[in-house]
Amino acid sequence: MSNVEAQPAELVCESASGPAVVEVLQPRDVPLGGPRAMTVRRTLPQRSRSMVGAWCFADHYGPDDVSVTGGMDVAPHPHTGLQTASWLFSGEIEHRDSLGVHALVRPGELNLMTAGHGICHSEVSTPGTTVLHGVQLWIALPDAHRDAPRDFQHHVPEAVELPGATVRVFLGSAAGRTSPVTTFTPLLGAEVVLEPGARLALDVDPSFEHGVLVDVGEVELAGTALAPGALGYLGAGATSLGLANTGDTPARAVLLGGEPLGEDLVMWWNFVGRSHEEIARFRDQWQAGSERFGRVEGYPGARLPAPPLPGGRLRPRGNPPA
Ligand code: MN
Repeated sequence: MSNVEAQPAELVCESASGPAVVEVLQPRDVPLGGPRAMTVRRTLPQRSRSMVGAWCFADHYGPDDVSVTGGMDVAPHPHTGLQTASWLFSGEIEHRDSLGVHALVRPGELNLMTAGHGICHSEVSTPGTTVLHGVQLWIALPDAHRDAPRDFQHHVPEAVELPGATVRVFLGSAAGRTSPVTTFTPLLGAEVVLEPGARLALDVDPSFEHGVLVDVGEVELAGTALAPGALGYLGAGATSLGLANTGDTPARAVLLGGEPLGEDLVMWWNFVGRSHEEIARFRDQWQAGSERFGRVEGYPGARLPAPPLPGGRLRPRGNPPA
């Protein structure tokens, strides 16, 4: 077999930095539920890709004028086998959980809740919130740690100023900073703000795969344009991530990374498990008020009932290779 082009293009094969083939995952609109349903843009999981590292769920919302949308009001609901990471750009959310934590989620502050064996929590935007804008992310726990006890960590990362960019590393290491927040698999989570016209080459761990979720602005990942709300995926092997703001207004993105989890998950509703039977048991336990999930104190209203299980068997989600 031979290349039969008359003028073959010169091709630089950079094995050290890996192939910069960016998959673009488009968001879909999902109503959050409740009496005043707020809509979020979900990029993970989706049919073509369910995870980036152990990041298994990505919801992006706002900027929402809460006087119009009613804001966020998610009644007590359960989780298993995951951590929830909340990161806001504006607004404020009141968090209550069955560990007894009552916390305010604020812009630039990471709140990481470990569900492990089982937890329940409520999330309500505060009365003082005028614009709600942020992301809600889930991290799947590896099999060895998915029954970990409930936990809650809070961290305010320092803003790292680079030429043309400001980076806040809330999980893992980047831009010379390391978050003190503990995770169960190697992960990266950071907010990146790019000035108009800025280009940033961020050193990254080549064992990680990465996702860049664009909030606002005209962002390119490794030369591929990403619309606001889209998530650009780059497989493991890269030693550097090329980010650019090609517009004339500031851009902002959330950078997610991690070693491929290498485990098949069954995700349904708010549960991460490993089999249909296990998910059905989690659902029964929530419906029965099991101590597995505990109770949220101080939420003014009823907890969320689980929806009915779908007719067929829930099947594990694997992840295609990059
Ligand atoms: Mn939740």
